Amino acid sequence: MTLLTTDATTPAAHSSSVLAPNYHPLHVTVASAEGSWVTDVDGRRYLDLLAGYSALNFGHRHPALVAAAKDQLDRVTLTSRAFDHDLLLPFARALTDLVGPLVAGEPMMLPMNTGAEAVETAIKAARKWGYEVKGVPADRATIVVADGNFHGRTTTIVSFSTDPDARTGFGPFTPGFRVVPYGDAAALEAAIDETTVAVLLEPIQGEQGVVVPPDGYWSAVRAVTTAADVLLVADEVQSGLGRTGTTLASEYFGVRPDLVTLGKALGGGILPVSAVVGRADVLGRLTAGTHGSTFGGNPLACAVGLAVVELLATGEPQRLAQVRGEQLGARLDA
Ligand SMILES: *Cc1c(COP(=O)(O)O)cnc(C)c1O
Repeated sequence: MTLLTTDATTPAAHSSSVLAPNYHPLHVTVASAEGSWVTDVDGRRYLDLLAGYSALNFGHRHPALVAAAKDQLDRVTLTSRAFDHDLLLPFARALTDLVGPLVAGEPMMLPMNTGAEAVETAIKAARKWGYEVKGVPADRATIVVADGNFHGRTTTIVSFSTDPDARTGFGPFTPGFRVVPYGDAAALEAAIDETTVAVLLEPIQGEQGVVVPPDGYWSAVRAVTTAADVLLVADEVQSGLGRTGTTLASEYFGVRPDLVTLGKALGGGILPVSAVVGRADVLGRLTAGTHGSTFGGNPLACAVGLAVVELLATGEPQRLAQVRGEQLGARLDA
């Protein structure tokens, strides 16, 4: 079991007193990585089966992504959104070209950095749409979510987590969320009322094990939300961008959500890049001054994000995920 033993020469960040103890990593100190492999400070190689919780869908240091980043480092890295830059619109166009056909309605995108920020953005956009378009009374909007969810670590997001470790000690919590059992479309339908603006779910849950919902669940959720004029927000930060052998997990289930949150692999394992892609009549409610981010849509992020989208536009990562999925599944079953 060399995998889990400590070594005297290992810097051992896990036992350092200057590092907040909010993680308990395996005793492996990585020094370099390439493709599916990482090498530790003592020269041992490991097959990386975690893949940065799916931030590394294309492997470590994919040559096309690293090249895009290096090239951009020599040009411009940050403008803030107070100015335009020459990659913002190309990235927005490429991402909406890729993901737009997989969501309902005319698409638009809004760039952020982390997955949690993309989820927060979707929550804000859904609420604003609910008040301005649906006529929900001020500050009364509700959003239906599922137990066992993982949508990030901000105070609003942990407000509707059902994991005691994620919540305990961090109240008071943000109101306006209703938790129903994951995989139960009838319970979800029953939780929707005239205050409900959105249903926020992972098409495949990814935090407490990989939880694939029962057959027909995702399409039933789409039918229920369409009938109630409630937004279906698919958190595809982990399930999206090739993971399921399709560009989105929603696509795999044959469902077009109203808003999709993307993150993790959108930054190619190089830097945090996230986005919300979806209905322009919803995202268009976030007008100047109502939402933003200093680093969201920065030139370096757009350069890498654009290269990621170009990679996915070939369909090759999705095809490889399918092939490897079948190969691994068959051999592990055997
Ligand atoms: C990882 C994850 C997030 C949060 O992303 P961060 O970049 O860590 O903020 C949100 N939703 C899902 C489904 C995730 O897996």
